[in-house]
Amino acid sequence: MMRLNNDDRVCIIGGGPGGSLAALHLIRQAQQAGIHLEILIFEPRDFTKPGPGGCNRCAGILSSRLMAGLDSLGIQLPPAVIQAQLNAYTLHLDTAVIQIGQPDPQRKIISVYRGGGPRQHQGSPLDSFDDFLLRAAQARGANRIAHRVRSVSWEEKPVVHTSLGDFPADLLVLATGVNSRPPLEPFFGYSPPPSAIMAQDEILRPRNWPDDQVSAYFTRPKGLIFGAIIPKGRYLNISLLGRQFTRDTVEEFVEAQELRADLAFDQASSLCGCTPRIATGPARNYFGDRWVAVGDAAVTHLYKDGIGSAFFTSHKAMQVAVEQGVSRRAFAAGYRPYCQQVEWDNRHGQLLFFFWNRTLQSPRLLKAWVECVREEMTFSQDSRVHIRILWGMFTGDESYRKLLRLSINPDGIIRILKHLR
Ligand SMILES: Cc1cc2nc3c(=O)[nH]c(=O)nc-3n(C[C@H](O)[C@H](O)[C@H](O)COP(=O)(O)OP(=O)(O)OC[C@H]3O[C@@H](n4cnc5c(N)ncnc54)[C@H](O)[C@@H]3O)c2cc1C
Repeated sequence: MMRLNNDDRVCIIGGGPGGSLAALHLIRQAQQAGIHLEILIFEPRDFTKPGPGGCNRCAGILSSRLMAGLDSLGIQLPPAVIQAQLNAYTLHLDTAVIQIGQPDPQRKIISVYRGGGPRQHQGSPLDSFDDFLLRAAQARGANRIAHRVRSVSWEEKPVVHTSLGDFPADLLVLATGVNSRPPLEPFFGYSPPPSAIMAQDEILRPRNWPDDQVSAYFTRPKGLIFGAIIPKGRYLNISLLGRQFTRDTVEEFVEAQELRADLAFDQASSLCGCTPRIATGPARNYFGDRWVAVGDAAVTHLYKDGIGSAFFTSHKAMQVAVEQGVSRRAFAAGYRPYCQQVEWDNRHGQLLFFFWNRTLQSPRLLKAWVECVREEMTFSQDSRVHIRILWGMFTGDESYRKLLRLSINPDGIIRILKHLR
């Protein structure tokens, strides 16, 4: 039987949210099962450094389901880590601007820095979310090894190779995300998820720019699927998802959306800038005997709430490891169904984004839909359908399946038809 026994060693590669959360879940599960484990987290990056070198490059919006999850682990984010409380999304459409408020005020959404702030940040680094989580895992007993893993071989069990030495593991957790080459040797058969390139930058927040709203933009420049401007304390993060984007795309976006004056954007505005990858599908062969992938390295919620997904995939994987064992069979029975559910949910998400794009391309439908949303703003929270769908789509706060089901709600459809007429 392949099970975790007292004093076994678990090697976690990657100390981003996937890795740190895997350690935190594992520590809790092992304590409940009465086993003591040696947990090593391999992470070379210093998350306290400003700029892309210290940062797992992302917009840094934390969903309410992640916040509830952290709470269940007894983890409270210190106020200094929270850069903004986000209460509304403002959608900038070609013909209208509409603001959608948080449908449920209990479900808070916030923004954070993954590293120490923008590259050109002046003064002491800002508080990093990834650094906070990694330290939380260390405080509960995990050991951090600040070295890159060069490779992992199989010698009757996984063996992690670093410049510090070799570390045989009774369980290996792969939490390397999608922005670096996975170090597993071909023996493991792991294929990383497909991914798309995003463009990001950070600028100073103009004094009159709201500090509690995400601004969302579509269709311009060509190829843009979704653009967001996210307040983070004295800065704004600009994140663009689309096709074949480069760092110059941020400037093209500002130009195309006619934001130059509002953002006081000029050549000196760029304070950071990067083009990270986002996972757009599941990995293949993401577990085996004595190893399992979590977070982006396995499967993630499409386009939104990747950190929330890292929480839930690492929770499920560590629960299976402790309760059912660490064999391929145990992960196939206990972990794969969960990942398949995420994948299935993403199919619903693809459909929702397809309908959304169709709406954006049809001026008549868009107009009817905008009127519908405006009308819903006068309704009680419970009767709002389209507002809830939009909020869920843009925040990742609800499953795509639930949102798709809501989109075929008869009241919602009747309202759209009424406005179409
Ligand atoms: C532009 C952009 C915006 C996004 N916005 C959001 C958002 O607002 N909210 C949200 O929830 N998600 C967002 N995401 C997704 C989110 O960034 C990921 O889902 C999340 O970071 C996944 O966490 P992870 O720990 O699996 O991977 P990562 O965060 O990528 O962490 C992987 C870690 O592994 C380490 N590592 C890699 N290789 C090795 C090695 N060989 N040895 C040792 N360590 C190694 C890396 O240094 C890194 O720290 C965004 C993504 C992009 C690209």
